[in-house]
Amino acid sequence: MEAILLAIGDELTSGQTLETNSAWLAQQLAKRGIWVRGHRTVRDDRADIAAALAEAADAAELVLVTGGLGPTADDLTRQGLAQAMGAELVTDDDSLRQIEDFFARRNRPMNEGNRIQAMLPESAEVLPNPIGTAPGIAARVGGSLVLVMPGVPREMRKMFQEQIAPRLANGEKVILFSSVHLAGIGESDAGGILADLMCRSGDVIVGTTASGGTVSARITARGSSLAQAQQRIEQVAGQIRDRLGSKVFGEGEATLASAVGDLLTRRGQSVSTAESCTGGLVAKLLTDVPGSSGYFRGSVVAYDNQVKQRLLGVASGDLEAHGAVSQAVAAAMARGARSSLGTDWALSTTGIAGPGGGSGEKPVGLVYLAVAWEGGTQVFEHRYPGDRETMRLRTALGALDHLRRRLLGPQEARDA
Ligand code: AMP
Ligand code: MG
Repeated sequence: MEAILLAIGDELTSGQTLETNSAWLAQQLAKRGIWVRGHRTVRDDRADIAAALAEAADAAELVLVTGGLGPTADDLTRQGLAQAMGAELVTDDDSLRQIEDFFARRNRPMNEGNRIQAMLPESAEVLPNPIGTAPGIAARVGGSLVLVMPGVPREMRKMFQEQIAPRLANGEKVILFSSVHLAGIGESDAGGILADLMCRSGDVIVGTTASGGTVSARITARGSSLAQAQQRIEQVAGQIRDRLGSKVFGEGEATLASAVGDLLTRRGQSVSTAESCTGGLVAKLLTDVPGSSGYFRGSVVAYDNQVKQRLLGVASGDLEAHGAVSQAVAAAMARGARSSLGTDWALSTTGIAGPGGGSGEKPVGLVYLAVAWEGGTQVFEHRYPGDRETMRLRTALGALDHLRRRLLGPQEARDA
């Protein structure tokens, strides 16, 4: 079975309210093996709603609609539905009584406008709403089942769970999603390596996304059972891991920081950070992970040169000769954190976050990252494009990835 989702409301088309109902519904349908072909947002206009319903019903057997069932003149979904069905609106006596009771229980007078909430197209069926005044509607447009729910997310979710989900015969297929997260590779390079896996048909679909500084390969698999869908996901995830090797840092909920945490935990080792341009962001990402107190000791945010000298022991000669954004200072910061915070590993960041402060020799986006450990110190130079926020996030993630590769072994560290 395939579905199309329609969200109705001027507040949605105008961008004043973020449309979240379809995202939630799409996930619910996937769990039940129903493939979502598309989402559409439509303004509060009877003719537009009728046209969108007719088009959606042409394209999919199931159309889920939210919003536009309120009591006011701008809520026109039931009128649009009647138009698409070529039916009249009639009053449903039970619904009217329930709406009257709803107001009586709250000791409030019922508004005339609320009467329209008891109306629905002839031949349509009421979906009771136990927590609001707007009942939902089940109807047929062409050969498709159209289910209309209130727009208020809480009411929509309750109506879906209690009344719609039980009607949706579990599709004979199960749909599962998974994602494989990558570091140290751009989205287009990853897309090139995975191109032949990204064909858009069949029971497995692979795509890439870049979000929050992380590139991921997304896998969607259908199967006739949970086990079969899982097996299809695992087979493709295995191919992705084989092709991308240590660029894969985790799957699902994993983050770069949690991947680093797992490696440190396995070794029983600790880490600290010395941060200039990231201002503590590496420490923040590390401590976002529950249980990070097991391996993370602390951070020195050494923004000023005097702090770099006093708390991290960076030599004034290095600062004078090379400047704060330099290989020598990055290395000294990491070594300083390692010894003053007493950890097995330390990471440092120093760079020009912009928008000002760049020069021909040291442009905005130039960063030095260092990893220090018992056996040595390694410094990496990067040019991270983007605005200040993007540059700082990339720097922090880059630092974590260099540590991760070092923890994996010298070979992986060289491949970085
Ligand atoms: P309605 O049922 O159209 O009267 O919608 C009632 C309220 O629910 C709106 O004012 C929005 O705040 C909210 N709402 C409606 N549709 C959505 C949606 N698709 N996503 C998030 N909120 C919504
Ligand atoms: Mg509305």
